[in-house]
Amino acid sequence: STIPTVSLNNGAHIPQLGFGVWQVPDAEATAAVRTAIEAGYRSVDTAAIYENEAGTGQALAEALAGGVRREDLYITTKLWNSGTADWTGEQGRDAVLRAFDSSLDKLGLDYLDLYLIHWPRPMHGSYLNVWKAFEQLLADGRVKSVGVSNFGPEQLTRLLEESSVVPVLNQVELHPHFPQRQLRAFHAQHGIATEAWSPLGQGKGLLTEPALVKIAEKHGRTVAQVVLRWHLQSGVIAIPKSVTPSRIKENLDVTGFELDAEDFAAIAAVETGVRLGPDPQDFDWN
Ligand code: NAD
Repeated sequence: STIPTVSLNNGAHIPQLGFGVWQVPDAEATAAVRTAIEAGYRSVDTAAIYENEAGTGQALAEALAGGVRREDLYITTKLWNSGTADWTGEQGRDAVLRAFDSSLDKLGLDYLDLYLIHWPRPMHGSYLNVWKAFEQLLADGRVKSVGVSNFGPEQLTRLLEESSVVPVLNQVELHPHFPQRQLRAFHAQHGIATEAWSPLGQGKGLLTEPALVKIAEKHGRTVAQVVLRWHLQSGVIAIPKSVTPSRIKENLDVTGFELDAEDFAAIAAVETGVRLGPDPQDFDWN
């Protein structure tokens, strides 16, 4: 396929465009992921809390039975928050290992490409202990890469200082309204790749921004394609979600054109600094 890959700090490679399945019900996930794989996606992003690992796994099983090679798929899931506030010591480690086993079992896989800590919940200070369990999963060969999601510089620094495995990437909210300039610079300094969640701004106001509509018209593309192209040319990994087959295809068809410096300047100007999701430093759901 023509989707570029990003080299990770452990030598692994991740497709720069993947398929996200947040808010896709388990019963619909199989059809959505099937459509995505048929369209050419090879990377899928799910999470235990999305409750669609089984439906996703069903589509992966079909793809593998149909001749797609396991090594060509790139499957990510995430450890949910439940209970991790008290996940200290050996008991905490075992709870992480059990959560991992449950996800892998639902996905129907015998290894995972990437496992992420979904939220840092810094108020509990348990993420470092969780990370030690991730290191064990990595050492045991159950997962090819480990990373984090929604971490800030403070939590990343703590991992860098107090553990021996650097996260391959940090998956954070990122789109032209909220481009995460400082965090991206921090990642670059430390060899951590940046992965964007809600790369299309959840399909809300971002896709009707007049400045973006103008760029889309200039290139004969849709605004969604312009935004995803912006992610790719920014070196960011993006995992757009859609359950609409035409959009699933459209979101992957972003390699045949190039944004120029003028486009980049116009896109920079739509920054609002406003998040769609919660501030990860305060977020503490179970
Ligand atoms: P997104 O930015 O990918 O937007 C998806 C929505 O945009 C769709 O539901 C649809 O309404 C619209 N859309 C998609 N393609 C379109 C197109 N071509 N034209 C017009 N509208 C289109 O939002 P998302 O689902 O929030 O984020 C993507 C993925 O990121 C999720 O599915 C999930 O895998 C991941 N995610 C992770 C976290 C986290 O905490 N780690 C949080 C949110 C999302």
